[in-house]
Amino acid sequence: MILFCGAVVFILSLKTPFVSEHPLIKLVLPSSTGLSSTQFKSHFYEEPEISLEKIHIQAFYLVPETLQVNMPASWKDDFTKALIKIREFHSAQFKNSSNITFSLLETPVLTQDEIIASIPVGIDRPSRVDLTKIDQFIESKILTPGAFFYRSNFAEIPPGAFVVKLIFLEGPAALGAEGIAILSRSYFTDPVVNYGTSFLYHEFGHALGMPDLYDSESGETFSDGIMGSGRYRYIDYVHLDQDIKVKMGIK
Ligand SMILES: [Zn+2]
Repeated sequence: MILFCGAVVFILSLKTPFVSEHPLIKLVLPSSTGLSSTQFKSHFYEEPEISLEKIHIQAFYLVPETLQVNMPASWKDDFTKALIKIREFHSAQFKNSSNITFSLLETPVLTQDEIIASIPVGIDRPSRVDLTKIDQFIESKILTPGAFFYRSNFAEIPPGAFVVKLIFLEGPAALGAEGIAILSRSYFTDPVVNYGTSFLYHEFGHALGMPDLYDSESGETFSDGIMGSGRYRYIDYVHLDQDIKVKMGIK
């Protein structure tokens, strides 16, 4: 009898945290706003006024004219699969509080080498990257009506969405800064690399303000999550770091 009562007390004491933490139960709880199934609003890293309820990715393949010969025939499929994968990862980690839509430009953006030269190679430190030139290039060559690479269905943005420009680059690069991420095409087509989508999410994370959780000078790692050493693991076996979730409003 005593043991039985003890068990009841134990279960009751667990009940509250269990309900608030369990994702399936959360879905059936009535929403206070009626707008969302969750009880919180996710937002840009440490910036509660910038909502991430809706994120729209404008993705395209940037190819220097001299490297056209390296374009794999499967690039659209490869990039689409990677985008779907990071959308699934993001949705799960943000507990469905942040929804990603994306569009992939139907044509590769061929360009002269000068603009590519403005992209820092192998640098993964958002605070030290100046992407003004590439940003101006995107605005003038792709997003301005009448421009050679302009497509209205690509340029359109869902109302209220936070926009991330995502560049798959033919050439070496892996970096992200607020609103923009750049990653080499080879991450998605090299058969020995199985962590390409993790790296893509890592750089996308920088575009949402997330910091690195490793020291780029010493290599010292502060987390095994995707912003730390987890970027080198297949995306199904990695998570978004808890400290970062807290600073993005995820409860
Ligand atoms: Zn990084």
